[in-house]
Amino acid sequence: METRDLVIVGAGPAGLTAGLYAARARMDVLLLEKLSPGGQVLTTDMVENWPGAVDGITGFELADRMRDHALKFGLEIQMHEVTKLHADGKYKVLDSPDGEIRAKAVILAVGAQPRKLGMPGEDTLTGKGVSYCGTCDGPFYRDQVVVAIGGGDTAAEEAVFLTRFAKKVYLVHRRDELRAAGVLAERVLQNDKIEVLWSHVPLAVVGEGGVEAVRLKNLKTDEEFDLATDGAFVFVGTVPNTEFLRDVVDMDQQGFIVHDRNQQTSLDGVFSAGDCCSKLLRQIVVAAGEGAVATYAAQKYLEDHHE
Ligand code: NAP
Repeated sequence: METRDLVIVGAGPAGLTAGLYAARARMDVLLLEKLSPGGQVLTTDMVENWPGAVDGITGFELADRMRDHALKFGLEIQMHEVTKLHADGKYKVLDSPDGEIRAKAVILAVGAQPRKLGMPGEDTLTGKGVSYCGTCDGPFYRDQVVVAIGGGDTAAEEAVFLTRFAKKVYLVHRRDELRAAGVLAERVLQNDKIEVLWSHVPLAVVGEGGVEAVRLKNLKTDEEFDLATDGAFVFVGTVPNTEFLRDVVDMDQQGFIVHDRNQQTSLDGVFSAGDCCSKLLRQIVVAAGEGAVATYAAQKYLEDHHE
C-alpha cells in the first residue's frame, strides 16, 4: 500500500493552499480530489473579496491560479474520491474505489455543497428549472422570470448575477432584512430588476416536466399563492461533504467538522480546513488561511510523532 507523510483531501481553496504550503515545505504530500480542482469557487462568477484582486477575479481564474501555484512548487494532485478514512495504529488509511492510501497525517478539506430545501417538487424538477447555481444556469433564463430563494451572500450575489439574463428576479426571503454583507445587500436593493418578497417562505415548486411556479407563503398574512416563474434558484446555505466521516471525527449538529485552533480534529493527526469546518464565517480567504495553518500543524505533528 502506498504511504505518504501527508494526504490532503479536497482541492478547493483550503486544500490547494494546504498543498501549496506543504509543497513549499518539501513535504511528502499528495492531494486527492474527486472532480476538478477549485471546489465551490468554480461556481462563483466574480470574487471581489480576495485581497489584492482589486478589480475582482472570476472564480474560474482564481481556482486555476491556485491550482497552478501549488503545481509550480511540485504538489502532486491525483483524481480519486475518498470514501472512507480510518486509523491504523500511527497511520490513517484512506479508501477510494481505486484502492487504499496510507498517510501519517491527513488534512480534510472536503468542502460543502448547496443545501436543499426539501420542498415538494424540488428534487423532481432539479435540472428542469430548479437550480442551485446561478452562475452555471443563469444564461438559460434570458428574458425570463426567475425566483431566487435565500437572503445570504450567495442569494444576494446570485440574484444580481441573474439580472444579467432574466428580465425579472424575485428574491424570496423569510425575514424582512437580508443576511448578506452590506455591499451585496445594497446591490440587491438598488437593482430595478429585483423585487424582494420579504417575510415569504417557499412551500413547493409547481410544474409538470418543468418549473411553472413557486408556491409561497406570506408569513405576515399567512396567505399562500403560486408565483409564476420559469426557474427556481435555491440559495439557502450549504451542507458539508462529511457524510463519509461520520463516526470518524467529531462534528457539530449540522455535520461540520469540529477542530481546535490548530485545525486538529478529534482524531490525532487528522486536521480540517475550509468550508467543511464548523465556524462562523465561510469565505475563500478563511479557507486559505485554515489550509496554511493545517499544513503547519501537520508538519509539527509529523515531527513529534513520526520522526
Ligand atoms: P447563509 O449565509 O447560511 O445564508 C442562507 C440564507 O438562506 C439565509 O438568508 C437564511 O435565512 C436562508 N434560509 C436558510 N434556511 C432556509 C429555509 N429553510 N427557508 C428559507 N430560507 C432559508 O448561506 P450562503 O449565503 O450560501 O453563504 C454560505 C457562506 O458562504 C457564508 O459564510 C457566506 O458569507 C459565504 N459566502 C460569501 C460570499 C462572499 O463573500 N462574496 C459569497 C457567497 C457565500 P436567515 O437569514 O433568516 O437565516
